[in-house]
Amino acid sequence: MRHRIAVIGSGPAGLTFARVLHRYGHPVTVLERDPAPDARPPGGTLDLHERLGQLALEKAGLLAEFQALSRPEGQAMRILAPDGTVLRDWRPRPDDLANPEIDRGQLRDLLLGPLDVRWGRGVTRVVPGGQDGVLVDFADGLQETYDLVVGADGAWSRVRPALSPVTPHYTGVTSLETSLDDVDARHPDLARLIGEGSVAVYGANRSLVAQRNSGGHVKVYSKFRAPLDWHKDLDLADAEAVRSGLLTLFDGWSAPVLDLLRRGTAFAHRPFYVLPVSHTWPHAPGVTLLGDAAHLMPPLGVGANLAMLDGAELAESIATAPGTRDPDETVRVFEERMWARAGKWAQITTAGLERLVSPDPAEAIAVFDEVQPS
Ligand SMILES: Cc1cc2nc3c(=O)[nH]c(=O)nc-3n(C[C@H](O)[C@H](O)[C@H](O)COP(=O)(O)OP(=O)(O)OC[C@H]3O[C@@H](n4cnc5c(N)ncnc54)[C@H](O)[C@@H]3O)c2cc1C
Repeated sequence: MRHRIAVIGSGPAGLTFARVLHRYGHPVTVLERDPAPDARPPGGTLDLHERLGQLALEKAGLLAEFQALSRPEGQAMRILAPDGTVLRDWRPRPDDLANPEIDRGQLRDLLLGPLDVRWGRGVTRVVPGGQDGVLVDFADGLQETYDLVVGADGAWSRVRPALSPVTPHYTGVTSLETSLDDVDARHPDLARLIGEGSVAVYGANRSLVAQRNSGGHVKVYSKFRAPLDWHKDLDLADAEAVRSGLLTLFDGWSAPVLDLLRRGTAFAHRPFYVLPVSHTWPHAPGVTLLGDAAHLMPPLGVGANLAMLDGAELAESIATAPGTRDPDETVRVFEERMWARAGKWAQITTAGLERLVSPDPAEAIAVFDEVQPS
């Protein structure tokens, strides 16, 4: 018997879940709050790890298409001291496919493929335990019922309250993000500074990272420790005021590094929130969570990877379970596996954030040396 399955959210978790079910010919309804796929800027480039995001794409039958689109050279990483001295200059071998980069928009389009997403369907609440299944309430007042509702609706999930009272908390580290377009033609000096992948500069309790996306687009992230209300006397919509505040914060850093901030366009404020390490919940029939909705952690390069593998594994388990098996048991087994994996990564990324934005910049370089193959 086929069950009525809905996934809430069309981020990496929801789309990978739906795409793997689709591969097995299993119907699934994808409900997304955004009115269209390109309603918002998709965000910065993602590196997909062989054993996480790439494994998920393999389960979706999309690995070859990913390899054709992705940028292995984008794995390159330079580290500079605030005075501009080059401390590390790591480049991948041409055949290194461990963590190639892909633009989020490209990944979204790859996963979307033949999927029929219902755009503009913002969910406000999910109520399990009803006679006809799990009730889904929409922002426009309509309601639907499903046998299984999968919450893949990100950090501020509206599905999570059906399972867990926990909400994300602030890490003490915030970020202001800006970008440069057509960097090779318009900013060749900065293109050289960044190289083919990323450049990172670490100071006491602050860092600047510039990362190439495709088509000469660069995202620049300034990260620093600050109370959540640090901007109470600053208009975050005023790009020149934000720029001036940042130039004061990074005062004394070398001129080419500060040019990343001087030439950036608008600034987006993104405080880093997390769920507790090892967030779990008492299993409830008919509802579960994937990705950031389940295990939001510091953004150190694994969140989307884990979200995709969550989606692929749950879909594969559902699609390949024997017809006699209780579908709820499939979800329960999946949750245990997801919690174990996510707990391990949440510990790693929590410790990593402490060291990458720390009073001692040498800690950040030590992190790089520990993870980077020599
Ligand atoms: C600055 C930054 C850099 C990062 N870099 C990396 C990286 O390099 N590598 C990596 O692996 N991860 C990275 N991450 C983490 C990564 O972005 C997330 O872990 C990942 O996007 C989580 O995917 P998701 O599908 O769970 O949630 P999301 O990507 O947040 O998707 C959730 C979807 O649900 C929709 N939605 C939300 N609420 C509702 C609702 N009520 N009803 C219907 N739809 C709803 C949203 O519109 C969205 O489409 C980074 C994060 C940040 C902030």
